[in-house]
Amino acid sequence: MISFLDLKAINAQYRDELIQACARVIDSGWYIQGAEVKAFEQEFADYCGTKHCIGVANGLDALILVLRAWKEMGKLKDGDEVIVPANTYIASILAITENHLRPVLVEPDPATYNISPENIRAAITDKTKAIVAVHLYGQLADMPEIMNIANKHDLLVLEDSAQAHGAAINGKKAGNWGHASGFSFYPGKNLGALGDAGAVTTNNDELAQTIRVLGNYGSNKKYENLYQGVNSRLDEMQAAMLRVKLRYLDSETKRRREIAATYADGINNPAILLPVSSIDVSRGLEHHAFHLFVVRTGQRDCLQQYLSNVGIQTMIHYPIAPHNQKAYSRVFSGHFDTTESIHSEVLSLPVSSVMSGSDVAFVIDACNAYRG
Ligand SMILES: *Cc1c(COP(=O)(O)O)cnc(C)c1O
Repeated sequence: MISFLDLKAINAQYRDELIQACARVIDSGWYIQGAEVKAFEQEFADYCGTKHCIGVANGLDALILVLRAWKEMGKLKDGDEVIVPANTYIASILAITENHLRPVLVEPDPATYNISPENIRAAITDKTKAIVAVHLYGQLADMPEIMNIANKHDLLVLEDSAQAHGAAINGKKAGNWGHASGFSFYPGKNLGALGDAGAVTTNNDELAQTIRVLGNYGSNKKYENLYQGVNSRLDEMQAAMLRVKLRYLDSETKRRREIAATYADGINNPAILLPVSSIDVSRGLEHHAFHLFVVRTGQRDCLQQYLSNVGIQTMIHYPIAPHNQKAYSRVFSGHFDTTESIHSEVLSLPVSSVMSGSDVAFVIDACNAYRG
C-alpha cells in the first residue's frame, strides 16, 4: 500500500533529533514564550527573508490575526471588501468573515488553479481594501502582478502561504511578497509540527508588534491589556520540533520536486490532465513546493477507486468549494464555474520525501494503465 502521506515515516527520519529537542524543552522548565520560540522565529524569518516572524497557535489564527491587527491599526474596518480566491481551502475565507470583513470571491486561472490577476482587477470596487493571495497546492500565486495591482489601488496583500513553505519567484520566497503572510505548520504541511502550530511573517514593525500583543490576550506588558486579544501562541515544544524540521525543509522540497517532475514526465494517459502543463520546467520548479500533486480528470471517482484497488491512496483537495459549504449558504450566492469544475475533477497523488523511486514508478504505471 502506498500511503498518501506517511507522517510516521516522515518524522521517524528525524526521531533522535526530535527526542533530543523534546528533552531540551522538558529539562528547561519553560514551556511558553521562551528560547525555543524566539530561536525558531528568527530562523524562520531568516529562511523566508523577512524582518519578522511571529509564532502563533495555527495557520488559521495566523491569517485571522493579520486582518485583526490591520483593523486595530485603522487600516481595515467592518464591512471592507477583501478579494480572495473562490478556489481555496476554507480557512482563507474564514479569516475574513471572522473579522467581519466581506469576502469577494474571484475565479482562478484555469491553468494554474491560483487566483487570476485579471479577475482581481475586475473585482475591485471602491470598498476593496485587501487581497488574500493563496499559494494553492504549493505553487506561488502570480505575486509580481498581484503586488502591481495592489500598489496601484493601494490595497493590502495577505499571502496564505500554508501550503508553500520555501516556494519562490526569482529567489523571493512565499511569505516575503505581500504585506504579511500566514503559515501553517499543521503536521501534514511541508513544514509540519507534531501538533498545531503557525506563524505570521512580515517586514512591517508595527504589524509584527500588534500581532504579538493580540495573540497574547492583547497584553503588551504583563497584566496590562491594550486590546481585547486572544490566546494564540506557538509553544516551546512545537517550536523545538519545528527547529529540527526546518533544517530538512529544503531537502524535502527538493525530493517533492523530483517526484513531481518524474510524475509529469511519466504519466501520459490522455484521460489524466497534469498540473505542470503550464509550468516552464526550465525555471527549476522554484515557484512550486509541491505540497500536493493534483491531477485532473473527468472521471475522478472512478480513477480514485481504481488507484485504491491497486494499493495507492489518493485524496481530494477539495471536494466542496467554500461557497457551496453549508457554513456559507447565507453569505455567497451564485456560481463559480471554474472553481466548481476544479472541485469535481481534481485528485491528489501521493507526494512525500519518504516515497521511494519504485513507489513513484508504481504510481506512474498505475495511472498509465488506467482505462476509464
Ligand atoms: C492548512 C491551511 C490553512 C490552515 O492552517 P491550520 O494550521 O490547519 O489552521 C489555511 N490555509 C490553507 C490554504 C491551508 O492549506
